[in-house]
Amino acid sequence: MKRLENKVAVITGGNSGIGFGIAEAFRNEGAVGAITGRNQTTLDRSVEALGTGFIGIKGNVTNVEDLENTFKQTSDAFGKIDVLVVNAGGVVDGVPLGSIGDVTEQGYDLYMDLNLKSAYFTVQKALPYMNDGASIILIGSSAAHRAAPGMAIYSAAKAAIISLAKGLSLDLLSRKIRVNALSPGSIDTPVFEKLVPQEQLEQVKQNWIDITPVGRQGLPSDIGNAAVFLASDDSSFIVGTEILSDGGMTNIS
Ligand code: NDP
Repeated sequence: MKRLENKVAVITGGNSGIGFGIAEAFRNEGAVGAITGRNQTTLDRSVEALGTGFIGIKGNVTNVEDLENTFKQTSDAFGKIDVLVVNAGGVVDGVPLGSIGDVTEQGYDLYMDLNLKSAYFTVQKALPYMNDGASIILIGSSAAHRAAPGMAIYSAAKAAIISLAKGLSLDLLSRKIRVNALSPGSIDTPVFEKLVPQEQLEQVKQNWIDITPVGRQGLPSDIGNAAVFLASDDSSFIVGTEILSDGGMTNIS
């Protein structure tokens, strides 16, 4: 039997990069459900690639009405939710990160809204539609542990995601809902194209490889495989903690 047979999953930001890799891994293990994102074109393309069993729901995770709509639509289509992956996040379009002198108050708020506040309200709006015994996976980052230039706000938001996994676990014990953080290291996704000019792309990726002991960037499927484990009953004794999937970057480089 496949490890996620009959499970209904929602993956925010499932139309790109890590989120899509998680959706593919879930589909391969028998799950059905919904992926979300703001870009209708990539949403449609990703749903088509996943095949039957998945729907795409357009929405912005920083908008609570969109979040309510996401979970209502999923529930209408599938009746219940067993797994929630809070993955949407990362870069705010058109707002560069930078060192402390460069960041405006508005930029700070936008990064915190996308990478921390949205995670909290994604969980809150999903809960009424989730089964007892469900699994919630919050996508963190190795950046919570290992500083990188100009990324202090993002790192702080992702560090808070790990605390959120602990705190929410306690809140949700009575429903036997497990909450864990899954923190990727450097993963080869379209986010790099949003951050770096084309001519610097290969060098920037190489810089990340140089500080990753296994000698490669991760793939979305690496995170997908770890997410399958956290979503499945194989991890039923893992509660309120963090799994790092970073090729050793945080702890042994
Ligand atoms: P991508 O840029 O490829 O994907 C980001 C996803 O988030 C897209 O699906 C995007 O969809 C969605 N998204 C972004 N903003 C919003 C929004 N306001 N509302 C709804 N959806 C939104 O990046 P990755 O796959 O690399 O990143 C996924 C997660 O993994 C992020 O949380 C990131 O911080 C984390 N991470 C990534 C690492 C890496 O090296 N790649 C390392 C560590 C953590 P759309 O644009 O259609 O809205």
